Amino acid sequence: MKHRARKRFGQNFLTDEILVRQIVDAINPSSGQLIMEIGPGQAALSLPLAESGAELHLLEIDRDLATRLNSLFLTRDQVHLHIGDALKTDFAGITGGRPFRLVGNLPYNISTPLLFHVLNWNELVIDMHFMLQQEVVKRMAAEPGSKAWGRLSVMVQYHCQVTSLFSVPPEAFTPAPRVQSAIVRLVPHEQPPVEIADMESFRRLVSQAFSMRRKTIRNSLRGLVEIRAIESLGIDPGIRPESLNLAQFAALSNLT
Ligand code: SAM
Repeated sequence: MKHRARKRFGQNFLTDEILVRQIVDAINPSSGQLIMEIGPGQAALSLPLAESGAELHLLEIDRDLATRLNSLFLTRDQVHLHIGDALKTDFAGITGGRPFRLVGNLPYNISTPLLFHVLNWNELVIDMHFMLQQEVVKRMAAEPGSKAWGRLSVMVQYHCQVTSLFSVPPEAFTPAPRVQSAIVRLVPHEQPPVEIADMESFRRLVSQAFSMRRKTIRNSLRGLVEIRAIESLGIDPGIRPESLNLAQFAALSNLT
């Protein structure tokens, strides 16, 4: 029987073979590698990934799809299926602490929390290739001073080098999503690009600054950083958060 796509699991299956090839070529899998795929669905990416001979771990939340995946990969020793919620998954537990590559055509309804969740494994992750809404990829890859520069850009760029690879039209999926998609490559930095004294303070400061985007940082950071302290860094308290770069966010959070 044909699987009926479930909206609640953000199911838009890739059906364009040329694009599947283009995505797999960008990932460039090979045997000896350990690859984790979030949301394998109907195996559009999993099959060619498995062909490479890589050790492949598939993590799927939908039990019906998992049953199909199980029969599809029954005879492939190097493919392992895990049923569960990627938002709650301990990736290091699955790989036994071994470094891994992460890929996925991610469910768009949970893409931002999922990105923040996977960044927890940054030290073990070799690289990540994700399909996301193009608008989300633009925010991840944005430059300071641009409209798209925000909390997601700052947090992701602190952890990784971000490269937007190519866009994918709605017609490449069944059912077709309403938005344009894009493939992004994330490579965790070997050394953090800026020094942060306390990660929690950094997160809080960045969130608070962008929760009031239209306010000046004098107002939005009230209660967190004194005006004089902002000025001591050579930063004008009259600017808005989108004018601050990563190093300035780090310096401000180191004062809190
Ligand atoms: N990889 C397939 C493809 O490219 O055609 C399917 C992509 S579809 C956009 C997203 C997939 O993620 C679905 O298979 C869905 O069931 C699965 N999924 C949704 N939420 C998930 C979660 N929290 N944890 C793991 N998988 C999830």
